[in-house]
Amino acid sequence: MKEKKIVIFSGAGISAESGIKTFRDADGLWENHSIEEICNQYTWEKNYEQVHKFYNQRRVQLADVEPNLAHEIVAQIKEKYQDDCIVITQNVDDMFERAGCRDVIHVHGELTKMHCMSCNNVFDIGYKEFTIGEQCPKCGNSHIKPYVVFFGGQAPKYMDMYSAFEYLQNEDSIAVVIGTLGNVIQISANLELMDCKKILNNLEISPYIDDSQFDRVYYENATSAIEKIEADIEEFWEIE
Ligand SMILES: [Zn+2]
Repeated sequence: MKEKKIVIFSGAGISAESGIKTFRDADGLWENHSIEEICNQYTWEKNYEQVHKFYNQRRVQLADVEPNLAHEIVAQIKEKYQDDCIVITQNVDDMFERAGCRDVIHVHGELTKMHCMSCNNVFDIGYKEFTIGEQCPKCGNSHIKPYVVFFGGQAPKYMDMYSAFEYLQNEDSIAVVIGTLGNVIQISANLELMDCKKILNNLEISPYIDDSQFDRVYYENATSAIEKIEADIEEFWEIE
């Protein structure tokens, strides 16, 4: 049996209160394109300029938003429990990092980084727009993709995520799920066979999550639930 750990898994709901705008407008489209068409592993090179325009907007927008209390408390929990706590997010924003959270596993990539398709180098771009033709600082090629997992693309960090989930077989471990519908990564199914303590926080009931398996359930904003979650973790962690 693996040792006990705290695994905190989050999605868009934790960043919503920071004002991170959803990239779909009312029609589910971005500038008349479907998101599936823009963020698509098989067609992104064909749509190269649109893809970069789309991600430039997302990236620049990050400069104007701030982490919220939920990011901050998660950062404090990580600081307190160190390697006993694993923070995983589906979010591509850098709100956790800005809140001071270390070693966050971004399973769907990071907006502030670019990926050179020629030499596989991943480099920081911050909140800047990527200019078409800009070169990789390592190899000088300009075949550059946002460091974000696209539909149909590989998600290498899923390996780290599934390794982290293995700790949840330990009944003294704690799984915390915040702000995710659970449809992209099926967190509910992943937790079903785990014996750990389980905490769920979403704004609303999700059809993709069986909340009966959770020990604590909070249907409210992440910022209003997070201190209760912090106390729950403390309580569960002490019980031997
Ligand atoms: Zn390169």
